[in-house]
Amino acid sequence: MPLSELSPKDVFHYFQKIASIPHGSGNTDRIAEFCMEFAGAHGLKARRDKANNVIIFADGTSGYENSEPVILQGHLDMVCEKDEGCELDMEKDGLEVCTDGVKIWARGTTLGGDDGIAIAYILAILASDTIPHPPIEALLTSDEEIGMLGARALDVDDLTAKRLINIDSEEEGVLCVSCAGGVRARCDIPFGMESVDKATKCAYRIAVNGLLGGHSGMEIHKHRENAVKLLGNVLTSANRACTLSLVSVTGGGKENAIPKTAEATVCLPMNQAHMLEYSVTEFMKLMHQELSTTEPELLITATPIEMPKQCMDQESTKRLIFALQQIPDGMQKMSPEIEGMVQTSLNLGILSTKDDHISLRYLIRSNTASGKQLVMEKVTAFTEYLGGTVRMQSDYPAWEYRVKSRLRETMIRTFEEVYQKAPEVTAIHAGLECGILAGKMMDMDMISFGPTLSNVHTPKESMNVASVQRSWEYLLKVLENLR
Ligand SMILES: [Zn+2]
Repeated sequence: MPLSELSPKDVFHYFQKIASIPHGSGNTDRIAEFCMEFAGAHGLKARRDKANNVIIFADGTSGYENSEPVILQGHLDMVCEKDEGCELDMEKDGLEVCTDGVKIWARGTTLGGDDGIAIAYILAILASDTIPHPPIEALLTSDEEIGMLGARALDVDDLTAKRLINIDSEEEGVLCVSCAGGVRARCDIPFGMESVDKATKCAYRIAVNGLLGGHSGMEIHKHRENAVKLLGNVLTSANRACTLSLVSVTGGGKENAIPKTAEATVCLPMNQAHMLEYSVTEFMKLMHQELSTTEPELLITATPIEMPKQCMDQESTKRLIFALQQIPDGMQKMSPEIEGMVQTSLNLGILSTKDDHISLRYLIRSNTASGKQLVMEKVTAFTEYLGGTVRMQSDYPAWEYRVKSRLRETMIRTFEEVYQKAPEVTAIHAGLECGILAGKMMDMDMISFGPTLSNVHTPKESMNVASVQRSWEYLLKVLENLR
């Protein structure tokens, strides 16, 4: 069936329109232009900036003229992914949106429900003559999916609202009230090299494989083992049984993913080869006991390889193995306010070996500024103690939980009115644009919600029609209650 048969008509009309305009991240000219034209056609003041953020201003409706304004926010860009064999050119072609009345999806591609539904809601509200609402500052940001570039570049001088509703959450019934800030840390620890005596030495590759991996924020507390840390453990144990000289260590691939694989190349005296193999096998048995329920596919192997020309000296080897085993990683603190929620964590996502140093790259996250600061200091102290240096970059602020929030109170009360039950109030241990915006607009009262989306960022993405309808009714009721 066509989307136009679904109600609310306006919401699906604008959603269809948005889907017909290619709007992948970095390709937001046309969608931004469309929003500006929309504002012009409806006589609304609007501006578009160089980053392709669009801001549309609407007065409060009758009875709400003097109410405090509210920012309604969503992002204009979408992640473009398609099935193998899908011919659509997502740079140029619109999406082929389908529905069976229960779900909405796009044939062969991502749907862009994340975050097209927010834009559709906002335009439908702005287009309406009958929906009561306070003054609205509609903030449509660009390039959220590639580092929140729009929010970062945003000039907030003409935004006067002190309350903001972000419509970029993906589970109906959940109100998000805090998100993590983050910073990337790169720790370089130096080593010295020496030449290898080929007559008496042999070389091995020790590899850790078969781990689950996962998202470094959302899954950091789910007992996913970090392959780099396990490599540190197996090397510690092997170095007690043999005299190892490290040649190189590598692992992981992304700062924001828990590493699934890691490996080390080592040299050792030939007559210790069997000891090495034995100690790795024993360590593997130990880990299978320890991790049988959480990492059943774990595999640790030692394989003979060709001799390298050089290896690290003994002092460096000892220091680096110590570093890999002991350097902080994983969940650091749970939230005292929101049950089951990680407050502070760090993920050692990438390990690499350069000419004269190893490089460890982290993503540090915390839902409080202080939590982030403490972990940054811990990582720095550890690295410097081992003779290394630390560089922090792409720091972005957390959206901290507010003990007192009038917006949250209104959203909860309205939720109970509409749904006849309490919402789940939670935080997320990952970045949202709310973090960037909180850093720019002091004392902003914010909340994030949205209808249920499934499999976002994949060609299986779908949006639940009934959830879109209920979330719409809820949003309208919230606006009505924001006197
Ligand atoms: Zn999104």
